[in-house]
Amino acid sequence: MTSKIGSTVLGHPRIGPNRELKRALESYWAGRSVEADLREVARRLWEDTWRGLAEAGLDSVPGNTFSYYDHVLDTAVTFGAVPRRYAELGLGALDTYFAMARGTEAVPPLEMTKWFDTNYHYLVPEIGPDTSFSLTDRTAVEQFLQARELGVEIRPVLVGPLTFLLLSKPSEEDFDPLDKLAELTDAYEQLLGELHRAGARWVQLDEPALAADRTPQELDALRNTYRRLGDLAERPAILTACYFGDPGDALGVLAAAPIEGLALDLVTEPSTADRVVATPGLRDKALVAGVIDGRNIWRADLDRCMTAAATLLGSAGEVSIGTSCSLLHVPYDVDAETNLDPQVKPWLSFAAQKVREVVTLGRALREGREVVEPELIEARAAVADRVRAERVRDNRVRARLDSLRPQDSRRTDYAKRREAQQKSLRLPPLPTTTIGSFPQTTDVRKARAALRAGRIDAATYRQRMRDEVERVIALQEDIGLDVLVHGEPERNDMVQYFAEQLDGFAATDNGWVQSYGSRCVRPPILFGDVRRPEPMTVEWAAHAQRLTDKPVKGMLTGPVTMLAWSFVRDDQPQADTARQVALAIRDEVRDLEAAGIRVVQVDEPALRELLPLRAEQRPAYLEWAVESFRLATSGIAEATQIHTHLCYSEFGDVIDAIVALDADVTSIEAARSRMEVLADLNEVGFDRGVGPGVYDIHSPRVPDEEEMEELLRAALKAVPADRLWVNPDCGLKTRDYPQVEPALRNMTDAAHRTRP
Ligand code: GLN
Ligand code: ZN
Repeated sequence: MTSKIGSTVLGHPRIGPNRELKRALESYWAGRSVEADLREVARRLWEDTWRGLAEAGLDSVPGNTFSYYDHVLDTAVTFGAVPRRYAELGLGALDTYFAMARGTEAVPPLEMTKWFDTNYHYLVPEIGPDTSFSLTDRTAVEQFLQARELGVEIRPVLVGPLTFLLLSKPSEEDFDPLDKLAELTDAYEQLLGELHRAGARWVQLDEPALAADRTPQELDALRNTYRRLGDLAERPAILTACYFGDPGDALGVLAAAPIEGLALDLVTEPSTADRVVATPGLRDKALVAGVIDGRNIWRADLDRCMTAAATLLGSAGEVSIGTSCSLLHVPYDVDAETNLDPQVKPWLSFAAQKVREVVTLGRALREGREVVEPELIEARAAVADRVRAERVRDNRVRARLDSLRPQDSRRTDYAKRREAQQKSLRLPPLPTTTIGSFPQTTDVRKARAALRAGRIDAATYRQRMRDEVERVIALQEDIGLDVLVHGEPERNDMVQYFAEQLDGFAATDNGWVQSYGSRCVRPPILFGDVRRPEPMTVEWAAHAQRLTDKPVKGMLTGPVTMLAWSFVRDDQPQADTARQVALAIRDEVRDLEAAGIRVVQVDEPALRELLPLRAEQRPAYLEWAVESFRLATSGIAEATQIHTHLCYSEFGDVIDAIVALDADVTSIEAARSRMEVLADLNEVGFDRGVGPGVYDIHSPRVPDEEEMEELLRAALKAVPADRLWVNPDCGLKTRDYPQVEPALRNMTDAAHRTRP
């Protein structure tokens, strides 16, 4: 007899309510503490999490969700997939792990990439023919036993075998990591056996890869793997978690598999619930109905969640309440916020609140709604307040959107623009520029900290930033760059800076979310209609332009990136929200133009990030993404030159969208991937200015001029001299002047030597 699961969450934040893990990691890496100190902090964090979740009243507490860096890396280490170059370093287990995560002097780290369509990044395991899987790390078992000593029975969580291999990359060409699935499954079997012997009744295997398109072969692999795992005699009950979308055909495969439970995301695609009802094989399984959004921060409409869960009763052996995915993607606790907009605060739910929502719904489902009536009433009131709030619906913004015409997102012919821009800017062939930010020096950071702490006033802070702009302009003139920037010293972050100035956004003090390793971000909260009360960047750009005769490029963040790096309202389509942000940026672009700025760059590094996991949903996304960029950049004269910057050069499915953005100049990362991308752009008819990065700013290395000249000559094979721009591959914010200055001088020299 399988035990019940009951109310649960699929995972939990792990960086610590006050980013304790971040501090402990960084102190350990800096040699200021020893391994035992770090392990002690970690132990306290996971114990507090287990205890907290059990005390909050969850029926089943997820365990093994802690990670020193990344849970995909943990999985690789658990099953012994450590590439030889790290094993050979001869370090202890923890330092080998960190070598894979961060590299050492001797070896670079594993590649890092985005975890599905979230802002979390994982380390990409390398799997080759000689990878030999075996159970080498037993943290999952140890944690189970530790938790039991504390009186908590956890449900160990692991990345599932299929997802693990689908996320891996082959360590050599023509190898498919999935070829190793049978061998990896052996190792999972061994772990399940050990968990069973330790007393674990449930284990959770996460298979988010099923939310993306999967081939019939991959579905076969899924079927075989779960049949094997299910057929094991001595094992915990298996809960397979599918999140970040509808599992598609995998739902039927898993329903037919000899496993005991399925956790489904009913938030991303509410229609998944209908498919559950129509899937017969679930009748004898436990179903964790993921009705509480694990990825966004809005307080749930508990009545609606309850109805959704209740319709599933009868479709599965047990129906219980859960989150749509792990809570890793939301901050810890709304109650930790002391300065949050008081009207917005009651509308929010972070991890602690979401756990309570799950518990409340669980009780309602089991014992009837009456027993949680007070909680339901409170939730109803908060939801209703948000719906009614004037700040959520701004009629001026809505009227303006309604009156937009198609031509508002169209610029004049590129040929005409090009001529007008040439006349206005008089740039040489192969013009040189940078991507926007210059190094954020200690002085700049100190000034910002002093302003925050109240040690200097706003006027003093402003003056320091203006001085910094002067320095940056003088330096660029001295180097001989053609299109200058003000250097962005006044910006803490390219999204937050704008969010702080726009109506419709709120900021948190402690709303940290892990991005990777010890790195956290604090996404702004986009809660209402977006309006720009006043110009945001004009003063800085105009100040910079007054200091030089060269054109200064205004610098803005595009609508898609503003959305991608914020928590976004869930009460209207993203496309509508993007158009509102676009209008605010459009006004800023026009104001910059009116202030004498002739070049404006609108950065969209996140364009590819929001791409839906399923191919069939991509065209609709790309349509609004492109449209919002064009809306933001079309309100100006033909002579004003629009640039955009994308932080990558592998465009894949977004390549046509890049053409459709209709920017006059597009800068991309290409320094690391050579210049091949230019040929891809030609193939889709891209005929605008393009600045393939010739200097990799992600490394402290200073490339010499020969190297960059060679890259430019390679670029000239694909792009004529009158459309080729010369620039680094991203902003210089994270670098230091001793690297940046010589690199930019070499870059400028390389451009001069290459010019026809
Ligand atoms: N303009 C920004 C900068 O230079 C662009 C940052 C980015 O590409 N992510 O910092
Ligand atoms: Zn970039």
